Amino acid sequence: MRKKIVAGNWKMNKLADEAVALTSELVNMANDEVKGDVKVILCPPAIYLTTLKKYIEESPNFALAAQNCSDKVSGAFTGEISAAMLQSIGIEYVLVGHSERRQYFNESNELLAAKVNIALEYGISPIFCCGESLDQRQNEDYIGFVKNQITESLFHLSAEQLLSVVIAYEPIWAIGTGLTASAEQAQEMHAALRAHIATKYGTETAEEISILYGGSVTAASADELFASPDIDGGLVGGASLKSREFTNIIKAR
Ligand code: 13P
Repeated sequence: MRKKIVAGNWKMNKLADEAVALTSELVNMANDEVKGDVKVILCPPAIYLTTLKKYIEESPNFALAAQNCSDKVSGAFTGEISAAMLQSIGIEYVLVGHSERRQYFNESNELLAAKVNIALEYGISPIFCCGESLDQRQNEDYIGFVKNQITESLFHLSAEQLLSVVIAYEPIWAIGTGLTASAEQAQEMHAALRAHIATKYGTETAEEISILYGGSVTAASADELFASPDIDGGLVGGASLKSREFTNIIKAR
């Protein structure tokens, strides 16, 4: 059985007291309301990770992710955060290759392969984000484009390493636009990506990889999306900033 995962990417939002309040509300609501097996991964700004760790300690189904890490081990890289640092404060996951990082910080598939490697080296599971733009969806082989992101950033891994990776398909045209991909559109891509992984690693490995959908997920759209056979949960942006809404999404898993 693949892991069901609901992750909340807070992006560059929330001040310190708000971050604590949101986390404790989520933990309380989940304790009361969430039944069954689901991993909840909060991805707050890195500055809050140490503080928030204390608030999730008693909730084994909660984990924290950084939104980014450096591809370098250590040294003169002002402003960067290393995978070793994340490991040293007990962080289990890191987002790698979010489309906003690709777009605003020019992160290439090659750089992201290096980030995946270093995260794995320090025992941190990458949540590898991929997805096409609207132009690509309309004009190109959009499935081939996303497959290629996976080939170039992940296919150098061993099967054992790949099993520590979570994939998040986030079509850029659906991020922050209110335009969720339909369950059919998302399922089509997820099935294609799983088949692509199977061609390299075999069906058994491909069947074990969790593939999350992200892009304007709300409590209203989560049920149908998460019911699709190849969609193993979500990577939620805006709707993860509100405890009631995000808890309802977790419950839809
Ligand atoms: P929205 O849910 O706000 O569209 O953001 C999705 C996303 O980018 C999560 O990483």
